[in-house]
This record gives sequence, C-alpha cells and structure tokens, in this order.
Amino acid sequence: MKVDLIAYTQNADALCAAAGKSCYSSRSSSELMESISPGETLGKIVGMGHHSVIEHAVFTFSVSGVSRALTHQLVRHRVASFSQQSQRYVSISEPSYVVPHSVENNPEALKRYREVMDVIWDAYGELEKAGIPPEDARYLLPNGCTTNITITMNARELLHFFSLRCCSRAQWEIREMADKMLELCIGVSPVIFGNAGPPCVRGPCPEGKLSCGKPRRGSSRQVPNH
Ligand SMILES: Cc1cc2nc3c(=O)[nH]c(=O)nc-3n(C[C@H](O)[C@H](O)[C@H](O)COP(=O)(O)OP(=O)(O)OC[C@H]3O[C@@H](n4cnc5c(N)ncnc54)[C@H](O)[C@@H]3O)c2cc1C
Repeated sequence: MKVDLIAYTQNADALCAAAGKSCYSSRSSSELMESISPGETLGKIVGMGHHSVIEHAVFTFSVSGVSRALTHQLVRHRVASFSQQSQRYVSISEPSYVVPHSVENNPEALKRYREVMDVIWDAYGELEKAGIPPEDARYLLPNGCTTNITITMNARELLHFFSLRCCSRAQWEIREMADKMLELCIGVSPVIFGNAGPPCVRGPCPEGKLSCGKPRRGSSRQVPNH
C-alpha cells in the first residue's frame, strides 16, 4: 500500500482559524491570518460546534496497491471525491492482489490463496485472448484485486473518516490506510488534526460491548497494534 498526500490547502490551520474568526470580527480573513494563533482560535470556534470553518481546508491523496475490498468501504464516504482506476478500460493482465496478514501468516492458507489467484488470472487471460472485453472479463476478478484511487476530502470529512476508520473496529486494511492518511495530515496541519483519530483519543469509547478495551487517549499519533 502506498499513500501520498499530493495536494493540500496551504496554511490550513491559520486559514480555517481566520475564516472562523472573521465571522465575529470587523476584519477580513486575509487581515486576520497575519496575526492569528490557530490553536487557540480554532479550539474555541470548533469547540462551539462551528465545524463548517474547517471545510475550507482540502486534502488530496494518491493511494495505490490497495484492494477493491478496501475501496468498496472507502467510497461509502459520500462527502468525498474519488477517481478510481477503471477495470473497464485497464486490463489487469498480470496477477495483482493484496494478501491479508492472517493469510500471509498461515502457510497452508497462503498456498491455497495463491493457487486460487493463479486460476482466476489464468481464466482472465483466456477470456481476453478469446476477445472478451476487460469490462466483462473483470467479473472474474476477486475482492483482493489491487487498485489505485485518488481521494479528496475536506478537513471536516477527514475528522469524521478518521474517527470511524482509525478505530480498531474498522477493517484492518482501511484502518492501515486511514492511519497513514492521518499521519500525513498531522504533518501539514497539526492544529486541525492534532486530536484526530478514533473517539477513544478524546474520551470514552462509544462502542459499548464491541469496544476493543484498549483506549488510545492521548496517543492519537500511535498506529494501533491490533
Ligand atoms: C466498523 C464499521 C462497520 C461497518 N459495517 C457496515 C456493514 O456491515 N454494512 C454496511 O452497509 N455498511 C457498513 N459500514 C459503513 C457505514 O454504514 C457508513 O456507510 C460509512 O462508514 C460511511 O459513514 P457516514 O455515512 O457517516 O459518512 P459519510 O458518507 O462520509 O458522511 C459524513 C456525514 O455526513 C452526513 N451525511 C452524509 N450523507 C447524508 C445523508 N444522506 N443524510 C443525512 N446525513 C448525511 C452524516 O452526518 C455523515 O456521518 C461500516 C462502517 C464501519 C466504520
């Protein structure tokens, strides 16, 4: 899996803080931005429930080598924009798939997994040779087939996405991707994302009986070990 932050709003912390403060000031955001203290201002404004101010910050990621199982979950996030490699127009002629850690760590399961993948790709190649277009041959391809996707989300949606997908209840592959995305966001916008992650980073776990029981309070930067 490769996750790159390929474009983002410059000075997002200061920009969102100034946008928020401009609602309560006679000065414009461009004037306010010169002297703003983003941590204090954003904490106050977003704490009041004025979450729309962080929608001014937008982040675009290039993600490659993830499975279609992951992207099927990802595209359920409706307040985001996606551009995904097409299986209609791009022939996946070589075997290219994700191996889950549980399979990788079990030699018997891994052998069987690889055998089935080989059978699938042999059949895919045969259909292609028989003149079947990729858009129809792709019906054979598995959930584990790799794909590339470009994701754009604003900061408000990203905070929501991280709260769901950095949680240990999320499926492992999308959680690995979300953790990498969060690290990249913290690197460029530490105020907005400093407290991001699953709800247990900020308070009690809302999962009840389904909780993993391993609160990450105060440790939003740690990649979970489960
Ligand atoms: C651990 C886990 C298990 C899951 N299991 C399943 C499963 O078994 N089956 C399944 O189908 N899905 C499952 N999902 C997907 C889940 O139901 C959501 O579709 C997905 O997480 C997107 O979340 P969202 O709708 O909150 O976010 P987004 O689509 O990103 O939307 C963000 C927010 O915008 C608002 N919003 C967006 N659209 C609307 C709307 N139309 N009306 C009102 N408000 C809106 C909501 O406040 C929403 O929270 C699972 C998700 C997780 C994290």
